[in-house]
Amino acid sequence: MSTPIEQRRILRTAIPGPASQALHARKLAAVSSGVSTGLPAYIERAAGGILVDADGNQLIDFGSGIAVTSVGNAAPKVVERVSAQVAELTHTCFMVNPYEEYVAVCEKLNELTPGDHPKRTALFNSGAEAVENAVKVARHYTGKDGIVAFDHAYHGRTNLTLAMTAKNMPYKHKFGPFASELYRVPMAYPYRWPGGPQHCADEAFDYIIDQIHAQIGEENTAAVIIEPIQGEGGFVVPPRGFLPALAQWCRDNNILFIADEVQSGFCRTGDWFACDDEGVVPDLVTTAKGIAGGMPLSGLTGRADIMDTIHPGGLGGTYGGNPVACAAALGAIETMEELDLCSRAREIEAILRADLEKLAAIYPQVGEIRGRGAMIAMELVTDRETKEPAAALTAAINKACHAQGLVTLTCGTLGNVFRFLPPLVISDELLHEGMSILADAFAASV
Ligand SMILES: *Cc1c(COP(=O)(O)O)cnc(C)c1O
Repeated sequence: MSTPIEQRRILRTAIPGPASQALHARKLAAVSSGVSTGLPAYIERAAGGILVDADGNQLIDFGSGIAVTSVGNAAPKVVERVSAQVAELTHTCFMVNPYEEYVAVCEKLNELTPGDHPKRTALFNSGAEAVENAVKVARHYTGKDGIVAFDHAYHGRTNLTLAMTAKNMPYKHKFGPFASELYRVPMAYPYRWPGGPQHCADEAFDYIIDQIHAQIGEENTAAVIIEPIQGEGGFVVPPRGFLPALAQWCRDNNILFIADEVQSGFCRTGDWFACDDEGVVPDLVTTAKGIAGGMPLSGLTGRADIMDTIHPGGLGGTYGGNPVACAAALGAIETMEELDLCSRAREIEAILRADLEKLAAIYPQVGEIRGRGAMIAMELVTDRETKEPAAALTAAINKACHAQGLVTLTCGTLGNVFRFLPPLVISDELLHEGMSILADAFAASV
């Protein structure tokens, strides 16, 4: 066991310091320029809410490696299970020789995902792979081709998922042509709904189903896929009633409703899954990110009658559901249950919101604060009337936070959303300290 990391921010050098800069010079000479780094402080160890870099700086983590280390980095139960597993069995390929850990993770996903109907699960390596398989299953089961995705959607970087992702730079630019029979409809985005936020709930649903009817036809539509709270696209939360209405309409039209919970899942929003908030039960659910404390694993969970129509050998892959990744998932899920991280996510929301409301009271550039649990965002605008996106200000504040050792992330199709995704095991003290760094960064940047 390595020595525990004191849960305290420590700045020993400028960020990034000399050791990180030396590593970064090697990175630039060895790693493709296409793989960029948000904050080139090279991390050596991490735990709780702290990342320790190569210069011994201790940074506060408000990103969890993009909603992945919800149980914390190197979480004790994850380390324990992974260490034991890696010493016993590293790989067989589940499709060649099966092992218990894969089955146990599927049982857990079937139990925890929304709805108490019979379910089946298949495991993969990445979120994009889970989404790809959701599309394969939906087309196979329905015998239809059309897939509907939303404005501001992010579903991954493979060719099929890029067709579903809604942002050109940096994801899609010059990487096409993309897979066909993917259609896009407007997102129910209250803050930017053309008819005004108060009409979004009524108008968005009607508009979207009219679009699907007119442009594709229900009889050609296999599935509608939506992030119940959008991630990369800006933490857009649809108005209450929208997701239940959409799910019901899909059911009425023999169209599968797929919830992409890759970012919003596993206690992040204060529930096991974001769909739970309104009792929405999807036909298929994709999971990844928070599932295994940082080990690569993803899942596709769905109605047993859908998932069991696939012919043997139709789903799989060499590494999908690797035993070490599965052991990590079992340790991560056990941690979420034991520490009641859903409740902790709601406490984190209360702390973050209180401080963000203070910023909103001072700065007219805060257009909206939104999100649920420990998935909270602040959208910045140059003017509250015109809602002109303040992308440059967002980037400046982000940079100022980084310089003070606070690892923050931005998002949004227009690059003007600040997002907060702290590990759910972060202390109140680090949350408060992070928010005061953010307030200083705001003051210095406006
Ligand atoms: C990150 C993400 C993906 C893609 O996951 P990868 O593991 O990066 O392939 C898909 N959907 C959503 C909602 C995501 O946030």
